[in-house]
Order: sequence, then structure tokens, then C-alpha cells
Amino acid sequence: MSGPRVLILGGGISGLSLAHFLRQTSKAQCTLLEKSNRVGGWIRTTKKQGLVIEHGPASYFARRGEDTIGLMHELGLQDQLVLADKAAKQRYIWNEKQGKLQHISLMGLAFKPWLIAGFLKDLVAAQPSPDPDETIYSFISRRFNRRMAEELVDPAVAGIYGGDIRKLSMRSCFPVQFEAAQHGSLLRPSKKAPKPTAGKAPSSVPPALLRSIQMSGSFSFQDGMEALPLALQQSLTSQGDAVRLRLGSEVVSLSSVPDDPTGQCGIRAVIQHDGDQQTTEDFDFVYSTLPTYSLASILEHSQALASSSSSAPASDALSSLIDSLRSIHYASMYICHLAYDSALPPPASASFGFLVPSSAKRPVLGAQFLSSIFPARNHGSGTHLRMLLGGDRQPDLISQAPESITALSRQAVGWSLGQPSLAELEPAMTEVSLAKQCIPQFYLGHADTVSKIKQLSETQFGGRLVVLGAAINGVAMNECIASAKRAAREFAMTSQH
Ligand SMILES: Cc1cc2nc3c(=O)[nH]c(=O)nc-3n(C[C@H](O)[C@H](O)[C@H](O)COP(=O)(O)OP(=O)(O)OC[C@H]3O[C@@H](n4cnc5c(N)ncnc54)[C@H](O)[C@@H]3O)c2cc1C
Repeated sequence: MSGPRVLILGGGISGLSLAHFLRQTSKAQCTLLEKSNRVGGWIRTTKKQGLVIEHGPASYFARRGEDTIGLMHELGLQDQLVLADKAAKQRYIWNEKQGKLQHISLMGLAFKPWLIAGFLKDLVAAQPSPDPDETIYSFISRRFNRRMAEELVDPAVAGIYGGDIRKLSMRSCFPVQFEAAQHGSLLRPSKKAPKPTAGKAPSSVPPALLRSIQMSGSFSFQDGMEALPLALQQSLTSQGDAVRLRLGSEVVSLSSVPDDPTGQCGIRAVIQHDGDQQTTEDFDFVYSTLPTYSLASILEHSQALASSSSSAPASDALSSLIDSLRSIHYASMYICHLAYDSALPPPASASFGFLVPSSAKRPVLGAQFLSSIFPARNHGSGTHLRMLLGGDRQPDLISQAPESITALSRQAVGWSLGQPSLAELEPAMTEVSLAKQCIPQFYLGHADTVSKIKQLSETQFGGRLVVLGAAINGVAMNECIASAKRAAREFAMTSQH
């Protein structure tokens, strides 16, 4: 084998796209280890009664999705593409006081005095953040007002992080807006404010295709979200010896290879295959795209092995790295699909879906009406929806049995659509899945934790261990793919010298 030996940990979208871009930009010889028996990580699709069941994300967003669109096109998936319907532009927010869903529209919002007051405050009296970091709640209440934080931003954040705006960091969750706010109004950004770095879709993507995806707002595939990771797997396994993609394999320990007589050094990995057989292999670089708590466990085990075989004191840098990786909290949630043979009452059931503010104290974070987002995949006039429940707002919910999650979701169909009796309507299909520790929460101080992880992994492994993935680069799939592309480009530049 020629070219640097690169070990990639994790076969989710971050790890797979990293392998893809590394092969595209360099001569890296890639070994990708995935613990489970499938690729995709949180992107997981199954089918039930002919309906597409998404256990993780339900659509790819076009916004800031240029690298994702480029990747989809490179893999030849355009023929399987399904674009979100126009109806998916309509969105709702639950209003607990009024006991009904409110349509989010420019006109509808324009007449809310508290919103106008908030916008005026931002336009005329915007003040930079007094602290280097601030919770989303504090930031929005200070710059606009409390109602805007609680009634608009809180439910929107639930839809992305399943999290609590009183704990999440504005700087880490919305870095572009946080930075722009240091230079004045957010609604009328100053010339000094940094612009969001828009990716550029490869010129091979036909402009008409790019435009239609961007106009639709979001997309998926005929067979669901997993089509993209599966196409990446197929493309990587077709590259012969240059890529080894091993399912059912995980790293047991990672340690620096001591200088050997040939002057080569790198990272030594003990790898476990199919639960028993172990091999030891040396790599020039290791990229982890694992949840940070998984990487912490591997490093902790490596530390324990090193201390049992040597009298040298444990490295402080390694201990701090493990602590920092473990300090990132991940939220868990339940996903409940319900399909009804009949159309549920409009208009909300014919929209993208709705979100619920935490002040409502409801178990549901929000719902997506998949039959109106992707009608081409639906059966006749029935309604197929999914509810997201729990998250960081209601962490205890995950201890409930799937049957009670189905019951809560059926009740939510009733209260949200204004007909409580709908809870009695028997769904034609139900499917519940639990996503444990699935979404990293960027609490106050997260940016410092990320810097510390980068600096400590550099110190401990001489720049040969790079930590990537949703906790480091952002939870959105577009961010996972864009950061994998960036990392591959940086690798190509440094490995040429
Ligand atoms: C319910 C839900 C809804 C979401 N909705 C959206 C959305 O609408 N839009 C959006 O952009 N994003 C959404 N996300 C977030 C997005 O799906 C994830 O952030 C993204 O898929 C993370 O990809 P990743 O590759 O970084 O990590 P993961 O998907 O976590 O992949 C990591 C992989 O590492 C493997 N692994 C773990 N430990 C080991 C080990 N020791 N050795 C080897 N392998 C190991 C895991 O099995 C996994 O396959 C959603 C997530 C969930 C759960």
C-alpha cells in the first residue's frame, strides 16, 4: 500500500463522507471502522407497510447544503431524489394559551406588537454581548425580548437540538448570528459583520437541478435518507485495497507508536473484530467521528492499559482530554411514526409540521407530516406523520415504554389538531424508536471545550489524532459533510509537504 495510512472511526455520515473526500483529494489509504453491522449512524431508514420510516433525520436541508448536494450528485443519486412539496413551506407553532396551532407567516407575525417591539429594539439599541458566551435565552431576551425567546426561538431550537435554550450557548449553536451581533443589529447587519461562509456546489451539478433543490428547501430519496450513506458505502467498497470498510469492528485502544529505528511514528490501534478477534495496526493519522463519550471510553481504556504495563505517571493531557470529551452531554429522544388511512383535519396536517415551546410543558417537541412533505411516497389520501418526544427538555421520558409513547403521540394528534377525539382514531401503522444519546448539546462554554479537545488531542498525539463529528462541527448533516470535506482538503494540503 502506498500513501498515508488513515484510520477513520465511525461509519456515520461524518466518517463516510470523510473517507470519500480523502480519497478524492489525496492518496490516503483509508481504513474505516464501524462498530455496528450497518453504515449511516443516526441516518437510518426502514420500511413498514410500504411507508418510509425514518429513525433519525427525515430530510436533508438545502440551506447551506451545497456540499451535501454536490456529494449526492457525485454519487449519482439524482434519479432517486424526492424534493419537498410546496406544502412543506407552511409551518406551525403550538400556542398553549390559545390551545391551538399558530401558522408562522410573515403576515401573521407582522401584527404582533411584542414582535415589532423586539425588532425595533434590535434595530435601534443593539448591544454586543457583555460576555464571551451567553445562553440562547439570555441573548434573544436581551436583544429582542422574552416573548420572542420563549414563543419563537425556543420551539425552533427544540426542532434542531431537542434542547433547552436556557442551557444552550448562542455562540456555539448559532455562531454566525452571535458574531454578527457583536457588530450591531442582527436584522440590519453592519458591513463589518462576518458573512456566513456559503459552500459552493461543484460545477458538475446542473444549475437547474441545484435551483430546484434550493427552491424546495429540503429533500430525501425514494427509499429514504439512508440512500446517501448506502451509496457512499458502495462507492468506498468499490475502491479495492485503497479503502477497507469494516463493519462490526471497533478500536479497543489508541496509543502513540514509539519512535522506531526507521523513524516512522504514528498511532497504534488495537482493533476488535466481530466481538472477539483482535489485531494491532499502526496508522499515520486517526480521525474520530465517534460520539465524544465513545472516544472518551476508548482513551480511558488505553490509559488503563498503559498504566498497567508501565510505571510512568498517567499523562495529564490525556486525562484532561478524556474529561473534556466526556463533559459533552447528549440528549435522547423518542421518534413515533403514525399512519392513518384517512386525511387528518387540515390545515396543519397538510404542512411541514409544528413545534412546541417548552413553556407548554408537553412531552412532544414537534411533529412532521411526512405525507405532505413527500406526497409522492405516500399511500393515497392517508396521513403519515412522526412525532419527536423527550429531548433535553424531558429526559425522563426515555424510561417510558414504547406503548406509552404511542399513546402520548396519539393524544398529541388530537390536541394539536383541535379534535381531542382523534386520540381514539386507530392508526393503520405505528412504529416507535428510541434514539439514546443522539444529539450533542452545546451548553454554555461548549466553544472552550471544543478548543480544549483540539489542543489536547494535538498535544497528546502530536497532531495525528483529529476529532470531528457532530459534537465538534455542528449537529446538522450539512455541517458534518462540509467539515469532513474541509478536513480532507487540509489533509491533502499538509500531506503534500
Ligand atoms: C431523531 C433525529 C433527527 C435529526 N434531524 C436532523 C435534521 O432534520 N437535519 C439535520 O441536519 N440533522 C438532523 N439530525 C442530526 C444528524 O442526523 C446527526 O448529527 C448526524 O447524522 C451525525 O452524524 P455523525 O456521523 O457525526 O455521527 P453518528 O451518526 O453518531 O455516527 C457515528 C458512528 O460511530 C459508530 N460508533 C460508535 N462508537 C463506535 C466505536 N467505538 N467504534 C466504531 N464505531 C463506533 C456508531 O455506530 C455510528 O455509526 C437528527 C438526529 C436525530 C437523532
